[in-house]
Amino acid sequence: MKRKKPEWQLEIAKERIEKLFSLAGSTYDSTPNRSRRYVELARKIGLRYNVRLDKEQKRNFCKKCNTILMPGKTSQTHLDSRTKAIIIKCQNCNYISRYPYK
Ligand SMILES: [Zn+2]
Repeated sequence: MKRKKPEWQLEIAKERIEKLFSLAGSTYDSTPNRSRRYVELARKIGLRYNVRLDKEQKRNFCKKCNTILMPGKTSQTHLDSRTKAIIIKCQNCNYISRYPYK
């Protein structure tokens, strides 16, 4: 069993992840590839430090191509009332994610 990382390291990791997501959002228009790279990095940091991304962050990018998802721009969102799911489609690679909603 690996020892748990110290708390301060986790805090730094969380901060870096937040920063990377916001960078990914602000750079998408000018440099989409760089933006995807930021998302990829954020996910890697999360894995390395075992930091869970919060719900918002998880829904914020495409798991397949790392595109930051912006409704009406890089993603299409609609609600499926039958299955009570939010369906988010990535406009870059057409990957579809589903999340339950209340
Ligand atoms: Zn995608």
